Amino acid sequence: MKLIFDKSVNGRRGVRLPASDVPAAELPQALLRSQAAELPEVSELDAVRHFTLLGRQNMGVDTNFYPLGSCTMKYNPKINERLSALPGFSELHPMLAQLPEGIDYCQGALQVLYETEKLLAQTCGFADATLQPMAGAHGELTAVMMFAAYLKAKGETRRKIMLIPDSAHGTNPASAAMAGFTCKEIASNADGDLDLDELKKALNDEVAGIMLTTPNTLGFYESAVAEVVALVKQAGGLAYCDGANLNAILGRIRPGDLGFDAMHINTHKTLSTPHGGGGPGSGPVCVAARLEPFLPQPKVYKNKDGSYGLSEDSAQSIGYIAPYYGNFSVILRAYAYLLMCGGDGFQRISENAVLNANYVRERLAPWYEQNYERSCMHECVLSASRQGAKGVRALDIAKALLDKGFHAPTVYFPLIVPEALMIEPAETESKQTLDDFCEAMIDIAKQAEENPEALKNAPLSTPVGRLDEVGAARNPILRA
Ligand SMILES: *Cc1c(COP(=O)(O)O)cnc(C)c1O
Repeated sequence: MKLIFDKSVNGRRGVRLPASDVPAAELPQALLRSQAAELPEVSELDAVRHFTLLGRQNMGVDTNFYPLGSCTMKYNPKINERLSALPGFSELHPMLAQLPEGIDYCQGALQVLYETEKLLAQTCGFADATLQPMAGAHGELTAVMMFAAYLKAKGETRRKIMLIPDSAHGTNPASAAMAGFTCKEIASNADGDLDLDELKKALNDEVAGIMLTTPNTLGFYESAVAEVVALVKQAGGLAYCDGANLNAILGRIRPGDLGFDAMHINTHKTLSTPHGGGGPGSGPVCVAARLEPFLPQPKVYKNKDGSYGLSEDSAQSIGYIAPYYGNFSVILRAYAYLLMCGGDGFQRISENAVLNANYVRERLAPWYEQNYERSCMHECVLSASRQGAKGVRALDIAKALLDKGFHAPTVYFPLIVPEALMIEPAETESKQTLDDFCEAMIDIAKQAEENPEALKNAPLSTPVGRLDEVGAARNPILRA
C-alpha cells in the first residue's frame, strides 16, 4: 500500500481555508516553529483513500469471526452506538452536576447511572454497585481496596494474604498486590477445578480473602464454588468473584447468591461495547451489604420525588477511583443492552454462548488435544501439543488462521495448559460461521501432519507477515 507521504505532491491541497478575518495573534517567539512542519500535500480523495485503506488492515468483530478467548468479542448492536452518540448524552459536561442548579440539567444521565447500578446489582445478586472503574482490572482493584478498607475498619489488619488460583487471569494478583496484599497461589486439580484440599491448607487467620474466576479460565464452572466461598468466609476472609466470564452464566446463576462479597463485570465483554487494543471499557463492581459503606463516591441517589442527586458524604468510602462517574458512554451502551435483552434474553445469551463453545470443542476433539474430559462453558481450551510433536506451535496455528480469514484465538493462556488455544465463539455467531472456523482449524491440523514447515511462514495474506513481536516490544520504532 502506498503511504500518504509517498503520494505527496508539492502544492496539492485538500481544502482551502478562507482568509482569516480576525487579526493574527502575536505568539511568543519561543513557541514558533523554525521550519515548516513536514506534512504530506494531498487531495481530499487521497486522504480519504489513505484512511479507508488503513481502516481495512485490521480484523475486527464487524469484519471477521473473532474467537479471542476470555475477551468475549461479541457483536455489538449498532443501535447502542446511536444511543451513546445522542447529543443529550455525548455533549454533557462532566462537571455540570457540580454547578449551581446544574443537577437539573443532567437528570437523564444520572437516571442512567442509577438504574444501571441497580440492574447490575440485581442481575448478579448483590446489594449495590459502583460504575466508576474503567476496566475489569480496575474493578478488581476497586473491590480489593474495599476489602482492605473493610478489614481495617474491623481491626483485622493482620489479614494480608490473598488466595488466587493458578488458573487466574494475570490481573488478579496484580490488583491484589496494588491494594497491599500478598498473593498465595492455589493449585487446581486434575479436573480443572480449584483443589479444595489445597485451599483448606492455605486458610488461616492471615487470609484476607480469595479472588475466584467462575467460570474459570479453563472454561469450566467451578464445581464446588459455593463450598469454596463458604470455606473462605468461615475462616474470616472475603470472597471475590472475577466476573469477566459472566456471559456464560447470565440469567442462570447470580454470584451474590453463592455468597460472594463482591464481583466485577466487564461490561465491554458481557454487555456489548466495541473494545480491543485496550479500550474503551467499564468494570462496574457489585457488592454485598457489608461492603456498601466502602463504595467509591460520588454515588447517585434517588429522591422521594423521583429526581436524582449526587452524594459524597460516606465517611468510610474509598473515595474516587476514577474521574467523575466512570466511562459514561460505555455504561450507556450496557444500560441499553440490559434493557434490550431483559430476563429471557439473558438466558438465551448464556445458553447460546455455552452451546457454541461446546459445538466447537466437540468438532475439534478428534484433531486437537483437550487436557480435561469435561464439557465447557462459554469457551473451550484446546492444546496444540499434538501438533507440537511436528514442530508446529500454538502461535503458528494462530497465524495460519489469519490467512483463512479468522482472528486468532487467545494463545498460551491459561498458563496451566501447554500450547493453549483458548476459543470463545460468543453467542452472536451462527452455526455456519462456527463450521467454517472448525473446517479451517481441521485443515490446519492436517497441514501440521503433512507439511508443517509451511505453517511456520504464515500469515502470507495479511498486510504485514510474521512479526518479531519480542523485538517490536523491546525496540519499538514508532515513526517511519
Ligand atoms: C478480561 C479479563 C479481566 C480484565 O479485564 P480488563 O477489562 O481487560 O481489565 C480479568 N479477568 C478475566 C477472567 C478476564 O477475562
